Amino acid sequence: MVVRLSEVSDDVKIVLIPGNEACTAGLPADVYGDSPGFRKESDRVFLRRLNSEKELGKYLVAARQGGGIYLHLPYFHPGDSCGDVTFEIEGKRILWDGKSYSGKLRIDGRDVFYKSVFFTNESDPDMSDAAYFDRAIPGPAVRRLKHAFPVISDYYRKDLGVEAVQSTSAVVALTHNQGKYFGYGGDALNLIRITYDNPNPLPEDIADVFSRTYAHELAHKAQHPSLFENPYGRYLTEGSAEFLKLFVLRESGLIDAHQEDGLVRNALQECAQHNSETSWLQKLSGHTTFYREPYDCGLVYYIASYRYSGLEAKAFVQLLLKALSADIDYSSDRRRLCLLYESDCQNVMITDLVSGGPGFERARAGIESKKKVGAR
Ligand SMILES: [Zn+2]
Repeated sequence: MVVRLSEVSDDVKIVLIPGNEACTAGLPADVYGDSPGFRKESDRVFLRRLNSEKELGKYLVAARQGGGIYLHLPYFHPGDSCGDVTFEIEGKRILWDGKSYSGKLRIDGRDVFYKSVFFTNESDPDMSDAAYFDRAIPGPAVRRLKHAFPVISDYYRKDLGVEAVQSTSAVVALTHNQGKYFGYGGDALNLIRITYDNPNPLPEDIADVFSRTYAHELAHKAQHPSLFENPYGRYLTEGSAEFLKLFVLRESGLIDAHQEDGLVRNALQECAQHNSETSWLQKLSGHTTFYREPYDCGLVYYIASYRYSGLEAKAFVQLLLKALSADIDYSSDRRRLCLLYESDCQNVMITDLVSGGPGFERARAGIESKKKVGAR
C-alpha cells in the first residue's frame, strides 16, 4: 500500500492507495486508531490538522514549521493489514535522512520508525541537505547560524568520529500558535527540530541559543539507546550532551573561555537550587525532578568527573564517547571516572554530588576550580 502525504491548506492530506484486491473494500474508519486530529474524508482519504499545541504522543505529530510541514512518520503508518507500506511525500522540497529532494520522495514503511520528514512548497525555501531555515528568522541571525552549524557538525564528524551526524538535518523555525507558552521545543531524530514558540520579543541572542541547541542535539547521536535504561538515564544523557556541547563549541572556537565559564557557573547555580535535601535518584523515582535539572546537574556531574580525572580535555572526551557507546569497560579507571553513573563509583566528589544535601554543597565548593572544559 502507498501512503501519499501532501499539504492542503491547514491540513496534511493522507491518501491510502491499496496495492492489492484484498484491500479494495476500503479501510476501516479507525485505521489511525482513535488518534485525535485524524479525520476521515472518504474511504481512503484522511486529513490531519497541523497543530503544534496538543499532541497525542511523545513527538510532535504534524506541525507547521516556518513555510513547511514537519511530520513524525510512525503516526501515519496504517499498519500492515494491506501488506507492505510505502510512503510517498509530495512537496517542492523535502528533507529526509540528511538529504534534500525535489517533488516526490518514496520511503519504505520499514524505515520510518523514530523518524520524521520535513517538506515545503515555498517557491524559494532556505534549504540545503544540512538545514532548513524559516524565512521569519532575521537575516543576520541566519548568516551566523549558517557559519556555526557546519562548524559544529564537522567537529562531531571529523574530530570526534560521530558518523550519525551525516544522516541528520536541522529544521529551524519560529512558530506562532494559540498556545499560551513561549520558549524552545525540539526533537533530535533524523531531523533535529529546533523551534522557538511564540517569540515575544525575539531574544537578541537567538543565533547563539539556536547553535547551542544544535550542538546539544548532535551530541545525542553519540549515545547508545541503552543509556536511557540507566536509572540515572536523564542525567546521563542530557548531562553528557551538555558537556559535549560545551567542549565542541569551545574547541571549534564558537565560544571563548569566558563564555564557557559563564555557562558552567550558570549550570552550577541552577543545579544547586534543587539540591538542598533529596538525592538525585530519590528525585527520579519520586518524579520530582524539574525540567532543566538533568541538563544542569548532569553537566555539573561531568565537569566534576573531568576536573578530578587529571586528563586533558580531548583524552577525557575520548573516554566519554567510549562510555556513551555503552562500553562498560571504557577505562581501567572507571570507578573514579564514573561516566555511566556506576553504582560502585568510588569518587567521593561524585557520590557527594548525587547524594544531595550537605554532600552536594561539599562537592560544589570543590568543583569551583579554574580548569576549563575545552582548555587549549
Ligand atoms: Zn537533550
